[in-house]
Amino acid sequence: MMVTTKLSIQDKLPLTCSRRGTCCHGNVVMINPWELVCLAKEKKISPKEFRDLYCEFGGIRLRFDGEVDWRGKQSCSQYIGDFGCSVHLGRPLACRLFPLGREIQRGEVHYMYQGDEFPCLKGCSEVSEFPHLSVGEYLNVQVTDKFEKAQDEYLELMQNLADTAFVLLLDTGLAESGDKETLPLWRKMGNELPEILTNRIGQEWIDNLMIPEISDNIDDPISFVRKHDDLLQSKIQERFGALQTNQKLHEASVLIMGVALHLARGLGANPEILAEHWIDIAKNHGVME
Ligand code: SF4
Ligand code: SF4
Repeated sequence: MMVTTKLSIQDKLPLTCSRRGTCCHGNVVMINPWELVCLAKEKKISPKEFRDLYCEFGGIRLRFDGEVDWRGKQSCSQYIGDFGCSVHLGRPLACRLFPLGREIQRGEVHYMYQGDEFPCLKGCSEVSEFPHLSVGEYLNVQVTDKFEKAQDEYLELMQNLADTAFVLLLDTGLAESGDKETLPLWRKMGNELPEILTNRIGQEWIDNLMIPEISDNIDDPISFVRKHDDLLQSKIQERFGALQTNQKLHEASVLIMGVALHLARGLGANPEILAEHWIDIAKNHGVME
């Protein structure tokens, strides 16, 4: 099992990047809808164009389909050889934090890296010669603040979507009718490959999730995400507010849970674990499967 090294904000590490671009090759970079806007702005194209040209699974992951490096690993779609990142000012949180990871446990933020050896030493051993920075200093240099706020707001939006899927199941009479079809589908979606879940959700709701029509509030991630949340909830109300049959309610609950799980993956969370967590809560409220 992979060891995780947990860090305090004061820990000093060889966090001065040698800019060799090692981590821009063969990596996985997940993004949220606000980060998609930031990337598109840097590229001077629309979020939809950026999504269609450079992302996978409806926009939640950057493509790594560029040139191959000395290790045979393909570069990020935004990497330019002999130059570096073409969207440096708009790069997402995952790139700003690398090689650190971030998670929230019981309301507290923790930073860490994978393994017991500092990850940069493998591909960029020269970093050990550069000035060491504390974790806090590194976060400041990388200007992570706004991007961390966006990430946290999207975690709340994700929970709001899951709550809506619960309402469609629990508060409409669907669960009371003896429905046993909805929870197995929540589980199935938690285990589904991202391309399958993308297809299941369909273009309209993938677009509602990843390229919301928001042209103001772009520099303020909190306002942006809250506006996105309002937009999604009003679309849900418009589309599913007057559903009559249990079959339609079931389909709506599955769709909205699917959107929540897809966003979860884009936020770096594990959809399988989340689906199980939400299924347990539903069962505690008497839902059957
Ligand atoms: S692996 Fe570390 S030192 Fe090398 S380019 Fe990436 S962040 Fe910089
Ligand atoms: S967005 Fe930029 S920093 Fe991030 S992986 Fe791609 S090229 Fe590297």
